[in-house]
Amino acid sequence: MDLKTAIITSEKFALHTPPSGHPDAPNRISSVLPKLKDAFGDSLLWIEPSPASLDWVLSVHTPEYVEKVKKTQIVPMVLLDWGDTYAHGPSFDVALLAVGAALEAVDKVITKQIKNAFCLVRPPGHHALPNSAMGFCIFNTVGIAARYAIKNYGIKRILILDWDVHHGNGTQDIFYEDPQVYFISLHQFPYYPGTGKASDIGKGAGEGYTMNICMHRGATDKEYVEAFHTKVLPAIDKYKPEIIFISAGFDAHKDDPLGEICLTEQGYETMTQLLKNAAQKHCEGKIISVLEGGYNTESLYNSIKSHLKALSTP
Ligand SMILES: [Zn+2]
Repeated sequence: MDLKTAIITSEKFALHTPPSGHPDAPNRISSVLPKLKDAFGDSLLWIEPSPASLDWVLSVHTPEYVEKVKKTQIVPMVLLDWGDTYAHGPSFDVALLAVGAALEAVDKVITKQIKNAFCLVRPPGHHALPNSAMGFCIFNTVGIAARYAIKNYGIKRILILDWDVHHGNGTQDIFYEDPQVYFISLHQFPYYPGTGKASDIGKGAGEGYTMNICMHRGATDKEYVEAFHTKVLPAIDKYKPEIIFISAGFDAHKDDPLGEICLTEQGYETMTQLLKNAAQKHCEGKIISVLEGGYNTESLYNSIKSHLKALSTP
C-alpha cells in the first residue's frame, strides 16, 4: 500500500495565547485546522502528537533557558525576550508539544510508516536561540528535530530549507559550524531580524553548509522558483541529503501583514513540488515540514492547502 502524507497537529496548539493583537494568534490553528480537515479528510493521516521529552529540548537549548520557560507555567503572562515573545501558563507545554510533533514526524518518516509529514504547530521556532526566545519562537522545533535525527538515527546529512519571509537566525546559529546540517534560507533582506547576509556561509567544519539567499521586497513566485533552479536544487544535488526539513513559514505570501514579499499559493505549491522531486532523487522522498510564520489566516490556509496538495499527490 502506498504510504500517506501525515499532518501532525492538535487543537491544543491554540492554547498558547499572546496578548490580543499579537500576530501569532491562536486562530492560526483554530481557524485553519477545521478547514484542512474538510478539504483533505482521510486522504491524509491525522496524528495527535505527544510532548517531547526535555532531554531532546536540552540537546539544543541551555538548562538555564529551559528552566526560565518552565517557570512561566505559574505566571499570567511574561515577555521571554526584549520584545515580542510572550509565555504564560500553557505556553511551555504547547511549545513542548510542537517539538513532540516534529520528533514523531522524524520517527514515522525514517521508519517508513508515512511518506512525508507536515507539522501544523505553534509557536514557531526558527528564531529561537540556544539560550533565548526570539521573534515569537520559544523552542527551535526544527533544530531540535534535526539533532534528534542525527543522534537517534545516525543521520549524517540533513538539509533544512527555510522559506519563511524572515531569516531563520536561530537555526543558522545552532548549526553554523556543523556540516551534518546544511541550512538554506530564502528571506526578505534587509529585514527582521537583520541577519542572513549572502556572505554568511558557515564557519569551521560548517563552512559551505549555510546558504543565505536574499530576496528583495516585492519578489514574486518567478524569482523564488528561479532561485530554486539556480541555487537551491544544485546545492541539494551536491549535498545529497538523507532527509529534508522545511521550515515552512507562509508569511512571504503577498497578503501577509508582516512580510513584503509577493508569493502566491501557486508559488508554495511549485517550491514544494521541486523539493519533493529532490527528496525522491536523494532520500526516498523523506520530507518533514514544520509550520513557522504566516499571519493572515486566509492566505495561511490557502498556502498550507497548496503545500499539502503537493506533498500528498503521488
Ligand atoms: Zn516569519
